[in-house]
Amino acid sequence: AGNVAVLGRPNVGKSTLVNALVGAKVSIVSPRPQTTRHRLLGIATFPEGQLLLVDTPGIHREQKRAMNRMMNRAARGAVEGVDAAVLVIEAGRWTEEDGLAYSALRASGVPVVLVVNKVDKVKDKTALLPFISEITHEREFAFVHPVSAMKSKGLEALVKNLIFLMPESEPHYAE
Ligand code: GDP
Repeated sequence: AGNVAVLGRPNVGKSTLVNALVGAKVSIVSPRPQTTRHRLLGIATFPEGQLLLVDTPGIHREQKRAMNRMMNRAARGAVEGVDAAVLVIEAGRWTEEDGLAYSALRASGVPVVLVVNKVDKVKDKTALLPFISEITHEREFAFVHPVSAMKSKGLEALVKNLIFLMPESEPHYAE
C-alpha cells in the first residue's frame, strides 16, 4: 500500500483519472479519516497493492505565487508522507504552471510520475514523442505515461509503475 498525490492544473483530467483508477477493478475500502494536509480522492485496490490517491492543496496555492524559497518549503510539506506524485498534464500543452509544479515537487524529493493525459485528442500520435522529449529534457521523472483517462487507455502500465514506487508491503504467507 502507498500514498500517491495527484496534482495538476484545473481541467487536465485529475478527477477523470482518479475515477478511472478507482472505478475499474476496484473496491473502495473504508474511507480513512482525512488529514488537513491531504484530501482523499479515492482508494484504488489492485492485486499487487493498494493506492491511496490524495491531492496536495498546498501546491496549487503556492504555485500561484512566484518561485521562491517558501514555495519549495510548502511543497515539501504538501507531499509529506506521499510515496509518489503524479503530475497530470494535457497532451500537447505544457504551461508555466506545470513547470512550477514540477519544480516544487522535485524540490520536495518525491518521485514524480508524469501523466500526459488526453492522448485520444491527439490526431497525429507521432507528435507525442517530440512533445514528451521536450518536457523530459533536463527534467527528472520516475516514469512518463501517455494515457487517456477518459477512454481508460494506458492505465494498467501506469498502475504497475506506481505500485513499483510504493514501499515494500509486508509479505503474506499462506497458513
Ligand atoms: P480536473 O479539473 O483536473 O479534475 O479535470 P476533470 O477530470 O474534471 O476533466 C476536465 C475535462 O476534461 C472534462 O470535460 C473531462 O471529460 C475531460 N477529460 C478528462 N480526461 C480526458 C481524456 O483522457 N480525454 C479527453 N478527450 N477528455 C478528457
